[in-house]
Amino acid sequence: MPGILTDSVRSQIDEIELDSSRPLVICDADEVLFEFVRSLEHYLDTRDHYLDLQSFAITGNIKHKETKVPFPASGMKDLLADFFATSTRDMSPVPGAAEALAALARHAQIIILTNMPEEHREDRLAALERHNMSYPVVANDGAKGAAAAALSERTGDPVFFLDDLPPNISSVRRGVPHATIIHFIGDIRLAKLLGPAPDCDHRIDDWVEAQRVIEETIARARG
Ligand SMILES: [Mg+2]
Repeated sequence: MPGILTDSVRSQIDEIELDSSRPLVICDADEVLFEFVRSLEHYLDTRDHYLDLQSFAITGNIKHKETKVPFPASGMKDLLADFFATSTRDMSPVPGAAEALAALARHAQIIILTNMPEEHREDRLAALERHNMSYPVVANDGAKGAAAAALSERTGDPVFFLDDLPPNISSVRRGVPHATIIHFIGDIRLAKLLGPAPDCDHRIDDWVEAQRVIEETIARARG
């Protein structure tokens, strides 16, 4: 589902200056711009747990270091909230992301559309700034299609969307049917656990290649 546009997301989008004639790159943050899984592993290490990447999932794969007992699904919401509260500012960037976005910003507007608690938006902005990725951030909750549609209505074509999670990709496919969608998974171990999302146009896990495809698509659109 493309989802619904919440008041919070609408007002965040309203605050962004958008150019109706420029192409748009909508980019996820966790596991596309930031090393989410590695950061989560550091966090878990300090709390006697570890991530046993048996499948493309966090829930069920977090285990106690000694007992190997899986962390309960019922506690995941609180655990992730605490992780974002303590770790958002210190997450390390995916290699090549800042350089690729800087190059793409010459041809397109870059917007970061991230699913995270809005109270940590300032931390995310600080981490992005520290790693030379100061672009507008929209803190979203759930399906991303409605937010992507609202952004694309106010910009030019082509529109690009990058994300690691197939449900987000399906949502944007419905919300912005003409978008060029890149399924991108920054962590090599995670990337091996999942094939291309059914609704993506390209599966690319490397920023040099993603930049090339986006630049070629923009050049083709310009004729
Ligand atoms: Mg992500």
